Amino acid sequence: MSQTIAVWKCPAGHVMGQVRRNGRGIRQLLLYRQAIDLDWNEEDGMEEVDILAVVEGQVMNVRCSICERVRTWAPGKESERRRGGRREGAKPW
Ligand SMILES: [Zn+2]
Repeated sequence: MSQTIAVWKCPAGHVMGQVRRNGRGIRQLLLYRQAIDLDWNEEDGMEEVDILAVVEGQVMNVRCSICERVRTWAPGKESERRRGGRREGAKPW
């Protein structure tokens, strides 16, 4: 599969969730109920984690459940760029 799933870590390196793109190319954060320490194998751990929330298109402060550091989730610029730049490319002539 070509879909890449990136982990989203707190400033201390605990895995707080994962980032993926939905079908429209918009980034989503899948937030885990419980942060995971680094010795985590992506393939083994994937099915065991509990997804607390799916965050999309909003800025949000997330606190790590292990060390309580806060990281700000920002959905990225892709969605804005799509909205602004779409029309010209769609010209039929
Ligand atoms: Zn942490």
